[in-house]
Amino acid sequence: MIIEEFEKEAETFHQEVYREYYLVEAGLKEELNITPIYERYAHLFTEEVVKEMLGMAQDRRGRYLAEFATLEYLENLVKGLTEKISNAMRQATVEWEGQEVPYHNLIPLISNEPDMARRHRLDELQREVTASGNPEREQRFRKVHEKARDLGFESYIALCDQLRGLKLPWLTKQMQFLLDETKEVYSPHLEEFLSGIGVPMEEAARCDILHLFRGRGFDALFPEEAMIPALTNTLAGMGINLAQQENLELDTEPRPLKSPRAFCASIRIPEEVKLVIKPRGGPDDYSSLLHEAGHAEHFVNIDPDLTFAFKRLGDISVTEGYAFLFHYLPLNHYWLHRVLGIEDVDPWIRFALFRKLFFLRRYSSKLLYEQELHTELEGAEKRYVSLLGDNLGVAIGAEDYLDDVDDAFYCAQYLRAWTFEVQLRRFLENHFGAEWFASQKAGEYLISLWRRGQELNCEELAIDMGYDGLDIQYLVEELVSVQSG
Ligand SMILES: [Zn+2]
Repeated sequence: MIIEEFEKEAETFHQEVYREYYLVEAGLKEELNITPIYERYAHLFTEEVVKEMLGMAQDRRGRYLAEFATLEYLENLVKGLTEKISNAMRQATVEWEGQEVPYHNLIPLISNEPDMARRHRLDELQREVTASGNPEREQRFRKVHEKARDLGFESYIALCDQLRGLKLPWLTKQMQFLLDETKEVYSPHLEEFLSGIGVPMEEAARCDILHLFRGRGFDALFPEEAMIPALTNTLAGMGINLAQQENLELDTEPRPLKSPRAFCASIRIPEEVKLVIKPRGGPDDYSSLLHEAGHAEHFVNIDPDLTFAFKRLGDISVTEGYAFLFHYLPLNHYWLHRVLGIEDVDPWIRFALFRKLFFLRRYSSKLLYEQELHTELEGAEKRYVSLLGDNLGVAIGAEDYLDDVDDAFYCAQYLRAWTFEVQLRRFLENHFGAEWFASQKAGEYLISLWRRGQELNCEELAIDMGYDGLDIQYLVEELVSVQSG
C-alpha cells in the first residue's frame, strides 16, 4: 500500500470513529457501534500493512503513520479482551446497604463519602470487582508483548519508545529527579491535608486521597453559571471570539444520555470540532472544560493544508500541553481575580498545587512501574504496591496493578506535556506579562503554534522558544513552591 493511499484512508477511518464516539458521548445516539467501522477498514491494520509501514518509517511523516498503524493493529488484536473487560466492569454491581450499586458509580460514591470507615469498605468492594478482570488484563498484555516481538521490536517498551519518540530512558531519569526533589515538600503537606479530613497517616489509603481531592469546600468558588462565561471571556481576552469560530461547536445542551465529563471531539481537523459539556460547576468541572477547550482551540486553528499525519498524529504531548495550559488557569491568581472575581485565592491555590504535586508523583511512579510491568509481568503486583505506596505515602491496593496502566505509555505523553506546559507558560509570562491570558498578542502567538498541528514535537517547540529542549526544572520549581503557599 502506498503511503498516500494509507494516509487518506486512515483519515476517513479516524473521522468515522470520532463521529461515532461523539454522537454517543454527546447523548445523541444510544449505542456505540465501533466494530463495523473497524471491519470496514480492517485492511489498513493487517500485519502485512503494518510491516510495510514500519519499513517506510524513515522520515517524520512515515514514522507518525507507522506509529498509528502499529498501535491500531495491536489494539485490534486484543479488541475481544478489551471489550470483555469493559463489558464485565459495566455490568458489575456491588451490594451496599441493601442496594445494588453499579461498579462505575463507586468512585464518585467513595470521593463523596465523608466517613473514613465507610469509605474504606466501599473501596474494598470496588477493588474486588476490579480484580475479577485481572486474568483477562494479564492475557491482553501477554498478547501485546508477544506481538511486539513478532513485529521485530526488542520488546513492547522499545516499540512504544521508538514509534512514539518518548525517549523513555531520559524521561525516567527526569521523573526520578522530580520524585527526589519534591519528596521533602510532599510528605508534610500530605500529612497536613489528610489530618484536615480526619485521616491519620498510618491508615491513609488511595480512597482517602480521592475524598481529599474531591475538595467540596471549594465548590462555591466555581459556580455552574459562571463556567461558560469564564471560558468565553478568557478566550476573548486572547482575541478569540468563540461564537464566531464556525468550525467549533460549543454544545452545552442538557441531554439525559450526555457524558457527565467535558470532552472535545476533533471529527475533521480543522473543519469540524465539538466541545461538549454538561456544566455542573466545581473546580474539577472547570478544569476539565478548560482542558478540553485547549484541545479544541488547538484543533480548530491547525493549518488545513497540513497532511493528516501532521494534523492528527505526531506528538500527542503537544496537544496535551496546550490542554494543560488552559487546564491550570484556575491555579493562576491573576486569572482567579480577573475572570472569577475571587479575592482570597491562597487556600485554593495551595490545595490545587498540592494536588498537582500528587498527580506528578503518581504519574512519575507509574512511568517507573509500567516499564517494570512490561518487562516482567511476574511479581508486578508487589512492585506496584511498593513503588506507588512509597512515593505517594498512602496504602495502594494490589488489585489495581493491571487496571491502573495506560496503553502504550500514555503516562509518558502526559509527563512530557506537563513539562512542556510550564515552559510554554513561562515563555508567555516573559513575553506577554503575568496576565498573558488577557493579551491579544499572546493569543496571536498561541494561534501561530496551534497552526502547526503536531508536526513538531514538544522538544522542538521548546527549542523554538529559546530553551535547550524539554527541561523538568521549571515544573519542579513550581511544585516545590507549594511550601510558600
Ligand atoms: Zn487531554
